[in-house]
Amino acid sequence: MTVACIGIGIGGVASSAIGDAFMICRGPANVGPSWIDSQTIEAEVARFEMAIGLAGEQLRNVRKQIPDDAPSDIAEFIDTHLLMLEDRALSSQPISLIRSEGLSAEWALQQHRDALVRVFENMEDTYLRTRQDDLDHVVNRIMNILLGEQDNQPDELLGQIVIAEDLAPADVILMKNQGIAGFITDYGGPVSHTAILARSLGIPAIVGARCATKCLKHGERLVLDAATGIVLADCDTAILAHFEARQAEVISRTAELRQRGAEPPVTRDGRAVQLLANIELPDDVALARANGAQGIGLYRTEFLYMNRSTPPTEGDHFAAYLAVVEGMQGRTVTIRTLDLGADKQPAGSNLNPASVNPALGLRAIRLCLKEPGLFQPQIRAILRASAFGPVRIMLPMLTNVWEAEQAERLIRQEMLQLDAEGVEYDHGIPIGGMIEVPAAALNARAFAQRLDFLSIGTNDLIQYTMAVDRVDDELNYLYDPSDPAILRLIGQVIKAGAAEGVPVGMCGEMAADANCIPLLLGMGLREFSMQPAALLDVREQIRGLDTDRLMQAIRSLFDNIESDDIIRLFEDSSPDT
Ligand code: PEP
Ligand code: MG
Repeated sequence: MTVACIGIGIGGVASSAIGDAFMICRGPANVGPSWIDSQTIEAEVARFEMAIGLAGEQLRNVRKQIPDDAPSDIAEFIDTHLLMLEDRALSSQPISLIRSEGLSAEWALQQHRDALVRVFENMEDTYLRTRQDDLDHVVNRIMNILLGEQDNQPDELLGQIVIAEDLAPADVILMKNQGIAGFITDYGGPVSHTAILARSLGIPAIVGARCATKCLKHGERLVLDAATGIVLADCDTAILAHFEARQAEVISRTAELRQRGAEPPVTRDGRAVQLLANIELPDDVALARANGAQGIGLYRTEFLYMNRSTPPTEGDHFAAYLAVVEGMQGRTVTIRTLDLGADKQPAGSNLNPASVNPALGLRAIRLCLKEPGLFQPQIRAILRASAFGPVRIMLPMLTNVWEAEQAERLIRQEMLQLDAEGVEYDHGIPIGGMIEVPAAALNARAFAQRLDFLSIGTNDLIQYTMAVDRVDDELNYLYDPSDPAILRLIGQVIKAGAAEGVPVGMCGEMAADANCIPLLLGMGLREFSMQPAALLDVREQIRGLDTDRLMQAIRSLFDNIESDDIIRLFEDSSPDT
């Protein structure tokens, strides 16, 4: 057995696939310089225009094949490509290169693509780079038609793991319909459209594996483990049997745990714990419900901005929130206000373009306070949705209390406006904040005095406390949730909440980490929010733990922490002890 490649796993904790590698040529098609005869210029222009027309037809055909029950965002991925295709900005320059310089259609298209790519490359921004992926996908489709390769979608993909340099959202939809087991791409990040789509469609995938097309061989049996981002090849029958058995076990365990859905997340010594879901799209509500979420602890609304060319309107915000609120049928939905900026720019905006360090720049609540016009439609939509079920507003990345006060002031202004318009909303809607900046954790008592609830965002809290980028895998040893510095901050936030009678939850990845859960329970945390796929296992673990024992063990810990090896203290806290 060899670890053949490693990338970013998409699809959840229990998501894995076993299948034969199916290598597809879907990289950027490159052509060499070529010119045409001056007599054939108009014929070449017509050939280019015909290729654009055919690419549009192919995409419209893909759109028709989207299953009725597929998430609504999927059609938007295709529409974005259609819009790009129909935009004169894409076709006019190649046509003028054909006419003025006699370039072949392929060479003219490639020249234009390279010029546009240079523009994208100068933007140091993950979100805008996602738009470059879109451009590549559209140009490749036209190029393949010009080169006579047409839509070379293989017919038989059932149970296969597709390997490609890159895949367009349209490819993924077609492949899903053909029953692929999973896919692996060399390029792409976790917020690329293709990755978002894989998550929404429940396809195990690994993106950004860099060398997958070189390291893997067509036809070889692979194990794709989306939980770790690892691809195994050369597995002997015993190893394959092991993974097949593990997969079957996961399926039957999931079914069994779901059947026990009525069992509440109560510890062995009778303490009730809240288990909530983190969601990105309204369609995630189905899995959250199926896995027994008692509410939504974090709705990451910035995904509303990610699959479109214009910012969402108040109506778009409202429709998404209403779908979630109705889907949760009376359970509380915590809507986080925009966490845009830095690596996630809203469409059509050029905010904070050249910040020296975007993670420390104008993002999240900082951006909303600077641009109230961005904040306002979202706040109105959240308030309007609160008339249909319990909703909480959560402010991301608060650093000082002044920011919370300013945000509250803007929210109150919108409330007055809705009152004047006679629009209904929950006048007592709770307003809370995320504690994900060390300054806020150190000053948690003041936030607890000001806000209705707090939620600890450990993904960012660890990043900012340990001074290590959360996506930098070279520095994993520093990105440690059990570091005493992190635990001290978390302990301080929990204590501040208890002192002020304000609920404190956690919605970072640490909340679903089996090694950390006993520790967090012992520290007094009672609200855990996590990706829906993790809920069943966490509930099971919590039902086996004894909080009194854990709290006793933790009592003097904070005065005595000298070692960063704290997790070991809790190794014997497994459900069976
Ligand atoms: C966090 O920072 O822990 C968090 C939940 O927010 P996000 O991962 O969306 O930054
Ligand atoms: Mg965060």
